[in-house]
Amino acid sequence: MSNIHIMPEVLASQVAAGEVVERPASVIKELIENSLDAGAKTISVEIRRGGLAQMKVTDDGCGMGPEDAMLCLERHATSKLLSIDDLFEISHLGFRGEALPSIASVSRVKIRTREHDSIEGCELAVEGGVMHEPRTCGTSPGTSIEVTDLFFNTPARKKFLKSEDTEAAHIEHQVRLHALAFPTVRFIFRKNGQLCFDLPATEDARLRIGALTDSDTASSLIAITTQYGPGVTVNGYLLPLSETRRTRKGQFVFLNNRPIEDKLVTRAIRDGYGGLPAGMHPSLYLYIDVEPALVDVNVHPAKREVRFRRPTDVVTSIIEAISGTLASHSSKPSPTPENEGIQTSCLCKPVPTLETVAKAVAPSEPGTANPAIAPFKTVTPIKPIRPLPPTQSRLNIEPEKKTEPSTPFPFRLIGTLRGRYGLFENEEGLVVFFPRAARERIIFEKLMGARDHGLPGQTLLDPILLELDPRDFTVVNDLQDHFEKAGITLVPFGQRTIRVESIPPMLELSDAKTFILDLIDRITHSEFSKKASKLAYETFAAELAQKSSRMEKLDLTHAIPMLKELLRCEVPYCTPSGKPTLVMYSLQEIARKFGIS
Ligand code: ADP
Ligand code: MG
Repeated sequence: MSNIHIMPEVLASQVAAGEVVERPASVIKELIENSLDAGAKTISVEIRRGGLAQMKVTDDGCGMGPEDAMLCLERHATSKLLSIDDLFEISHLGFRGEALPSIASVSRVKIRTREHDSIEGCELAVEGGVMHEPRTCGTSPGTSIEVTDLFFNTPARKKFLKSEDTEAAHIEHQVRLHALAFPTVRFIFRKNGQLCFDLPATEDARLRIGALTDSDTASSLIAITTQYGPGVTVNGYLLPLSETRRTRKGQFVFLNNRPIEDKLVTRAIRDGYGGLPAGMHPSLYLYIDVEPALVDVNVHPAKREVRFRRPTDVVTSIIEAISGTLASHSSKPSPTPENEGIQTSCLCKPVPTLETVAKAVAPSEPGTANPAIAPFKTVTPIKPIRPLPPTQSRLNIEPEKKTEPSTPFPFRLIGTLRGRYGLFENEEGLVVFFPRAARERIIFEKLMGARDHGLPGQTLLDPILLELDPRDFTVVNDLQDHFEKAGITLVPFGQRTIRVESIPPMLELSDAKTFILDLIDRITHSEFSKKASKLAYETFAAELAQKSSRMEKLDLTHAIPMLKELLRCEVPYCTPSGKPTLVMYSLQEIARKFGIS
């Protein structure tokens, strides 16, 4: 093939690569998928320097003959001539069969492969999409694909990559995902020459999960009672509510053995658990099998989106699998290490003393007794799972809004400590209240409540003028929407001046200027700085809440209304960053200190 034919080919592949090969982890994903498609029983992944220097995936799958090996890299060459229209078409078809040519167009690829009944293997090298002569080689049956110098010829893409450690972490995540999806395949992962894991093949997904997590997690897994719906089967393992997280990092969902991230499924999971506070995500390993004809997994090759032909069946099956499993689990007689986590919702991982408070103040469900006034027991009774409403409305279960306007207030203020802490007593003992942390939580939840409509700002009589560093100025400009939602009106003028015209009235600040400057400092010169202009509103709100609560004057004369307001929050017992707002000393604990048993 002459260069003149190869060039448009390479360019087209590079365009395709932009979609398929976002980062080293995308290469690993494609290579592992190919190995799995080839029927591999063992897959070994080796990476160096976050995959940028080297990535190598070796399998014992069916291997390829020399012709196939050449063909798999040349698919473009055999297809029709590439025009812009064709490219558009391809992007809509999801670049089927384009992974290897795409990878080869932005790196140096070496393939060594041998079919099982062949006496010798074949080695092929491609650099930036240009193929070298294939040659025979000695190699074991299967395929080994080595990718070096990723993005060597597309420096612009390389700039988008994060640190080597971050890229390595993404790769490891990919390998773990596939290892979870295919427990029957042995997975070996090496990073910079060091073995990270070697997972033996097993028929039992629980063993694989255990090998990838820790023994605590493995022993608290609750097997899902298999749910069979029309064309759908749902299986897997749940973790107790105590393992509910602020992120979806504990959620692993596989559709026909492919890891997926799908909004519909995420929603169904929440609904299956019933009434979780906003922002909290249950941990689980969910294996969904859907008849291939009923699902399109090829919506986008690099993303894990899917399109269900009969979404309601899938959603209903997931909800029923989860709620049914939780219900039968919670009706078991006594707490065992497996089910003791499913008690009242202690949703963040608090220190033990906080846990007791958390149980006492956890928001109650409508129609049930308020646990805040229930007598304290060392072992909280297992909460019965709320019966599910009829199927139609199940899909719309939102975290419940508290309907009861005035909840009983089982706390009595008995004093203050050093002007810093409020001291309350309740039926269980002494509750130490930290107003600063409480304000942080309250402000955060108000800001989050305003994420759609925005908070009204209070116009400042004297607008504040801020001179900013040009880089900070840009970031602040990019984040104007967030500020506006939070009730802070910023008007930029010139190259670096910002006029602050309003701040939200809920902030009781004596020095608004220092507060705004501190906030800007924090969001521009922190760990977010690289991505500062893309900061999520939630993170922004958490930072704002923290900064303003620290700037506010502590006024313990308002301890009671403040605690009441805190208890109306979705997650009252900790700040957005997980610090306690209340610490409890139970009567038993105090008695024990005095040697009274
Ligand atoms: P696709 O997987 O969509 O077919 P790829 O570009 O990922 O496209 O792979 C092209 C072809 O190369 C595959 O269809 C397969 O025939 C062959 N192939 C790739 N990797 C392997 C492997 N590890 N073992 C055997 N064959 C492979
Ligand atoms: Mg493939």
